Amino acid sequence: MEWSPGDRGNIEDRRGSSGRGAAVPIGLGGLIVLGLLSWATGTDFLSLVTDQQQSPVADTGGQLQSSPQEERKVDFVDAVAEDVQGAFERKLGARYERTRVVLFRDAIESACGAAESATGPFYCPGDQKVYLDLGFFDELTQRFGAPGEFAQAYVIAHELGHHVQHLLGLDAKKRGSAVGENSASVALELQADCLAGTWGYVASQKGRFKAGHIELEPGDAEEALRAAAAIGDDRLQKMATGRVMPERFTHGTSAQRVDAFSRGMSSGDFASCGIRVRATESGSREAPSP
Ligand SMILES: [Zn+2]
Repeated sequence: MEWSPGDRGNIEDRRGSSGRGAAVPIGLGGLIVLGLLSWATGTDFLSLVTDQQQSPVADTGGQLQSSPQEERKVDFVDAVAEDVQGAFERKLGARYERTRVVLFRDAIESACGAAESATGPFYCPGDQKVYLDLGFFDELTQRFGAPGEFAQAYVIAHELGHHVQHLLGLDAKKRGSAVGENSASVALELQADCLAGTWGYVASQKGRFKAGHIELEPGDAEEALRAAAAIGDDRLQKMATGRVMPERFTHGTSAQRVDAFSRGMSSGDFASCGIRVRATESGSREAPSP
């Protein structure tokens, strides 16, 4: 995958303020230690801390410990979210509203309640944002055996697919619906896979990278398909319990997820995902079909 960093306009960085105990960055013990340090060294550590807390570092809490590798991942998520949203915007025109990916660590409070990293990335209709712990990418590689940037990009695009469903009111039928292989939940998840695929189609067009966009390289499609196959309900259930329970499906089988993503990726068309967009509203650069 060829991509370049942008301005992080698609990111809401809450890595520094999330996590367990994030609300208490320095306990009383810490203050006492800092006070002693100040006394011993002659440097006023306490005011350093106070200054830091007063500085207008929005949302991060100013306590963020990161690495160059992690910062590159932040740039990556931003670049993917930018590209995916650009593609969806061209399809939906004014009906698309831009959103952000909230980055967090371990645990976070969203408009959809408290969430932990263990639940995986998710879309919250309540605040219309995508939530992601960057650690999930390691899980994808190590636990699910689906490495690669396009595998990770597929996950982000899938969540933004839920945003499209929400904006179009398609997710309303999900509420109260039971789980199971024929549930509305499975249908919506597969549709989100398909929508992610339509972005894959866009990103696979030649000459995009030169024009400042993401461009796929040979082998990338296989990465996304491997990821889709890795996180099917049947496989996850088998990993967790050793057996498959279709009555508890929420996302569809591996085969269904691969099929849904492929459908979007080969056509690039929302219609292949069961979404009709009228040409007059689409704002699409594609020629209107006769
Ligand atoms: Zn989903």
